[in-house]
Amino acid sequence: MSKLIIGNLKMNILSPAQQEQYLSLFKKELTGKKINNCELILCPPAIHLPGFQKAKIKKIILGAQNMFWEEKGSYTGEISPAMLKNFDCAYVILGHSERRRYFCERDEEVNLKVISALKNGLKPVLCVGENGEQKKEGSKVVLQQLENCLANISRGKIENVVICYEPVWAISSNNPDHLPSANDIMSAKLLIRKFLVGKYGVKLAEKVKIIYGGSVSASITKEVCLEPGMDGVLIGRESLAPHEFVKIASLLN
Ligand code: PEP
Repeated sequence: MSKLIIGNLKMNILSPAQQEQYLSLFKKELTGKKINNCELILCPPAIHLPGFQKAKIKKIILGAQNMFWEEKGSYTGEISPAMLKNFDCAYVILGHSERRRYFCERDEEVNLKVISALKNGLKPVLCVGENGEQKKEGSKVVLQQLENCLANISRGKIENVVICYEPVWAISSNNPDHLPSANDIMSAKLLIRKFLVGKYGVKLAEKVKIIYGGSVSASITKEVCLEPGMDGVLIGRESLAPHEFVKIASLLN
């Protein structure tokens, strides 16, 4: 199974000049690198999708950070799945903790988005994970999020969903002690796999990629992401530095 390396650029890259600089650095970093068995996915702010699309960086697949569930119409400020498809997006991050925290997104809305993304041929990267206050009941929180966000997702569609276990307390942490251990991540992966087996059966459950997100850096990638057998990583902060992103991809190769 190829690994997924997904960069969430969040609300960064503030101008056309910064976009150009980022893309040219990225091209340079990839030049001459052999990256096999990995899908490299960049999720820039939506306003940059046309620029990223035009840049046609070899090996880079595009994704979005969010979308609305309706296909078109009077929804001021929203981006539709069809728009994302037409700008060559293959993936869309859904249910990110920052959407839940700052925009009050609930599981019910995330579920509508997952359904709509799949209907429109996009692969949702569904983020689940407990926050700092929920640490003691982390498993319960993750299972509830999975139950709610995957409601009405049929057997025929589930293999196109990527699940990202992202403990909210580990996002953009500056403290290396403030990260889950490889064991914690492995336990979360097994919990998610077990849920999927219960809902879809072993064969389908094995096809679903389960990745990790939360302060991913080159230095923790091997121990934290490879050894527990994760199918990839979601990278926030470090994806702003093309050199680091490509370094992480090379490690997972
Ligand atoms: C994220 O917010 O999705 C994320 C993984 O961020 P960071 O890598 O900065 O923790």
